[in-house]
Amino acid sequence: MDELDDLYQDIILSHNKRPRNSGHLDPCSHKADGFNPLCGDKLTVFLRKPGESIEEVTCQTEGCAISRASGSIMTTMVKGKTEKEVEEIITGIKELLSGEEEPEVDLAKQGDLASLVGVRKFPARVKCATLAWHALESALHGDATTTTE
Ligand code: ZN
Repeated sequence: MDELDDLYQDIILSHNKRPRNSGHLDPCSHKADGFNPLCGDKLTVFLRKPGESIEEVTCQTEGCAISRASGSIMTTMVKGKTEKEVEEIITGIKELLSGEEEPEVDLAKQGDLASLVGVRKFPARVKCATLAWHALESALHGDATTTTE
């Protein structure tokens, strides 16, 4: 298990070092700010979604390693997906990170997202990991801000 923890740590560090799709997206069709007062994480999700599918997505994060990695992973998972597919992904993420049942972690199935499942052991950090996903949901629904409580 230690080896696996190291691997997950590496994934998180890699996303921190080189966040994927970071920065502002201009022009964008949807955007929402996310704020996690517990940790002080702040981020903005930008989307370009001319039709059913997300054509471009970026996430600008000022926060801890978990929130930054999660934002970066989020962008790689939803780019090119339809709104319906994204809703399903978001439901799956919430289940994975904060659901009642202990999930089965499978790197092959969940990819880099598996690296975040460890936060389940630290309830205070779960909000760091879900923040980008809440902001994504708000952006899609046309809400300008979201705050995790
Ligand atoms: Zn945080």
